[in-house]
Amino acid sequence: MTITPYSAAQIEKGRLLFAGPCDFVAGAMKADMLPAPRLTEIAFAGRSNVGKSSLVNALTGRKTLARVSNPPGRTQQLNFFDLAGKLMLVDLPGYGYSQAGKQVAADWTNLAIDFLKGRPNLRRVLLLVDGRHGLKDSDLEIMEIFDASAVVYQVILTKADKVKPEEAAARLAETQAKMSRRVAAHPVVLFTSSEKFLGIIELRAELAALA
Ligand code: GDP
Repeated sequence: MTITPYSAAQIEKGRLLFAGPCDFVAGAMKADMLPAPRLTEIAFAGRSNVGKSSLVNALTGRKTLARVSNPPGRTQQLNFFDLAGKLMLVDLPGYGYSQAGKQVAADWTNLAIDFLKGRPNLRRVLLLVDGRHGLKDSDLEIMEIFDASAVVYQVILTKADKVKPEEAAARLAETQAKMSRRVAAHPVVLFTSSEKFLGIIELRAELAALA
């Protein structure tokens, strides 16, 4: 499902890293609650319900690290997880849902901007996109925030098991083409399924290279 081959050594490095302990470190609802920068950080972003919690859990091999299916828009906080003392995984609040009130988008923006702009150790943001639908307007708006923050972002398509193989190949190619036109975007797009464990070992390899 991925187009980038990873060597056996890279895959093994990813497996080892994510086999290590992973512990919740802090939850921040305001900029002044952010933990001091300590490790290289990888942030996870995406529309509510995209499968972000499921992906963090699949990567780390834990069922309940990130809570699956929080009421959309409710968890407006950044959660920090220390992975084996080598990488900090940062779960950003989901966006794109107005159910919890119109303020949500503005709150997301403020908190996220504070974090994205002032984080020298933030190496990459994984922008999760539902593989059944592809990029949405709200994803494009978020990318503009990433562009303005000078942070590298990489699109990870989710729920591959819900998409027929031909459609998945087309979605991947189309997403890759759109991302290749964005200067700050990482050119590689991965297609994953937390449910069927597709693309997970490749994503682990990709992230281990940053640890
Ligand atoms: P979040 O709001 O982005 O954290 O999304 P969740 O991880 O809570 O997932 C939202 C819904 O999508 C839940 O019902 C999950 O069971 C489902 N889901 C997440 N990942 C997958 C996947 O890879 N395949 C399928 N079929 N469903 C998934």
